[in-house]
Amino acid sequence: MQVLSVLGATGSIGKSTLDVVRRHPERFRVFGLSACRSVVEMASLCREFKPAYAVMADDQAASELAEALQDLPATEVLSGDSGLCQIAADPAVTTVMAAIVGAAGLRSTLAAAEAGKKLLLANKEALVMSGALLMNAVRANGATLLPIDSEHNAIFQCLPAGYGTLQSAGVRRVLLTASGGPFRTWSGESLQAVTPEQACAHPNWSMGRKISVDSATLMNKGLELIEACWLFDCEPKQVEVHVHPESIIHSMVEYVDGSVLAQLGSPDMRTPIAHGLAWPERIDSGVSPLNLFDIGRFHFEKPDIVRFPCLRLAAEAFEAGGTAPAALNAANEEAVAAFLDQRIRFTDIPTVIDSVLTVHEAASVSDLDSLLASDEQARALARERIGRLSV
Ligand code: NAD
Ligand code: MG
Repeated sequence: MQVLSVLGATGSIGKSTLDVVRRHPERFRVFGLSACRSVVEMASLCREFKPAYAVMADDQAASELAEALQDLPATEVLSGDSGLCQIAADPAVTTVMAAIVGAAGLRSTLAAAEAGKKLLLANKEALVMSGALLMNAVRANGATLLPIDSEHNAIFQCLPAGYGTLQSAGVRRVLLTASGGPFRTWSGESLQAVTPEQACAHPNWSMGRKISVDSATLMNKGLELIEACWLFDCEPKQVEVHVHPESIIHSMVEYVDGSVLAQLGSPDMRTPIAHGLAWPERIDSGVSPLNLFDIGRFHFEKPDIVRFPCLRLAAEAFEAGGTAPAALNAANEEAVAAFLDQRIRFTDIPTVIDSVLTVHEAASVSDLDSLLASDEQARALARERIGRLSV
């Protein structure tokens, strides 16, 4: 029996996780659930899964939830980062799904690694920001880090079990696939008028709003390039992005003998989630079988970094190293929020990030506090730039 905490239980990944968990009551018991402010949804999840703890982002939401759960004494309500870290690290917990969006998930993801848990990582921003800090915490504390991001889960599935390094496994390259997003075929000029609704309408995947915008700018692929370099201990030049608009091949691994292994499946996150939850076994995820006759053809093209500069900015930030990826992430989070609020245009997103990275002085990441200071500094710069661009 795995004892599970789901950080970000009300989100797209959180809901898909609980959908898989619901199918296997004999394998999983829910210990902790968290949400930002959606009290009604959280109350209903608590009634269904009866976790020992429910964590809300702030005291106000926590007291509202406690009020709604007065008749459910088995669930204790906590709040904030301390509550999140508590349900991530509790000795009773075996498995943590890190599915909070953005930097808000960093401390609790690190806490799960430091407590040596089986850590299912959806929250890619936490790894992009903290890099070596998170990877070292995993190694030093015997945690098991399993990628949930579909591409990285695919790469993991295409690697030999228990491989040491990519080189020792005979891997030459990783082929990271990308859908290209909703604006793959749009002209650079037409991108200026993109609305938040258009950017959030992904052609293949149903996801939270922030990652949907990231997919549309290709920042998602940039974050995933960095994520792949940390997870699989490789250089950006060993990872080649392949735009594959059908989103059926979730990524590939090329070996020195010329073999290319791919993982395929319907674009439904329950497959990588079920893989991570059950690993090294396999369980039913509820995903319908792939019908290749219906799909018919696969297409591949190179990403266009002129129309979508975010991919280039992410690669440059990784090369700069240290706190640069955290600054990239912070600037992106601020710019995406401003775009979703209709304060800046879609094409302003890379402009904001570029201007932050230009002045950011990358320092080495020594500890969490210095990392969070860089994050805050980059956010302040981004907000200032956004203020000047705002319409
Ligand atoms: P979402 O917006 O649907 O859900 C986010 C969850 O985090 C919600 O439960 C929300 O309540 C919680 N949350 C948000 N802000 C918070 C805060 N400040 N404090 C505490 N909790 C907070 O996002 P999502 O699409 O589920 O994505 C979650 C993570 O998984 C992201 O890092 C994303 O990049 C990654 N991911 C998502 C998908 C996908 O298909 N949705 C695929 C791959 C990776
Ligand atoms: Mg992905």
